[in-house]
Amino acid sequence: MRVLIVEDERKISAYVKRGLEEQGYAVDAAYTGTEALDFADAAPYDLILLDILLPEMDGLAVCRELRQRGNRTPVLMLTARDAIDDRVAGLDAGADDYLVKPFALKELLARLRALTRRTSDVPKSPVLQLADLTLDTLTRRVKRGNKTIELAAKEYAVLECLLREPERVLTRTQIAEHVWNYDVYNQSNIVDVYIRNLRRKIDDNFEVKLIHTVRGAGYRLSMESDNEAT
Ligand code: CA
Repeated sequence: MRVLIVEDERKISAYVKRGLEEQGYAVDAAYTGTEALDFADAAPYDLILLDILLPEMDGLAVCRELRQRGNRTPVLMLTARDAIDDRVAGLDAGADDYLVKPFALKELLARLRALTRRTSDVPKSPVLQLADLTLDTLTRRVKRGNKTIELAAKEYAVLECLLREPERVLTRTQIAEHVWNYDVYNQSNIVDVYIRNLRRKIDDNFEVKLIHTVRGAGYRLSMESDNEAT
């Protein structure tokens, strides 16, 4: 999952970025409205965290502009305490939800999970599943059958990305864009490295292999093993 945070107060931005990264999210930070629009045009974010009070162009204008450009990424608006007009204006501008500052990281994470769940077409359940592989987005627990599998934060993020769209071939770029931010995602073989780790943990000790390489295209999570290149 990749999040864009738009907030000019560097301290708050850094605090939220660190908190989300600890949970395995990829995070880019924009500090002005125009910067936010540039980022949003350039990468497929799963969520945009948008402060209302920004220099030059405020969050409401940014949100309206995003929607006008056809960008449907869920927007979580950050508003000042008791500013009811702001909240109404935010929703009117096309935001999906709002969070009152100051907020606890825990609440932000809960809203974030709810919003990304609401917008994905299929699963309303917090548990993603294929065959005997399950990933619980609430507890972040991954299991195959009865066996709990320990994953590093980015391994979890790559698996979640694949498991949100089982059977679909995802290119390395598509995976990287959802798992890493601009600082890292252009390192060419980073996805392959993580897929190798995931295979070792998820597939090696099991008869049915779920992670498949699709030659010249990318990776696919499936119980079927045609088009195999490994
Ligand atoms: Ca601000």
